[in-house]
Amino acid sequence: MRWLLRKCTVCGRYTLREDRCPLCGGRVVVPHPPRFSPEDKYVAYRYTMKKLAGLLEGGGG
Ligand SMILES: [Zn+2]
Repeated sequence: MRWLLRKCTVCGRYTLREDRCPLCGGRVVVPHPPRFSPEDKYVAYRYTMKKLAGLLEGGGG
């Protein structure tokens, strides 16, 4: 099921409109945070390891 509820970032009112707030015309966003994805941890981990590896390779000598 698709989440239809949106929240205005300007006035904070909830609306079902997807494009803009019917009250003030402000931008609307999905009020609940995006679902946590476990991949993010791996991406951050790999990024850190890559960075460390680069530092070790570059700093050796
Ligand atoms: Zn609004």
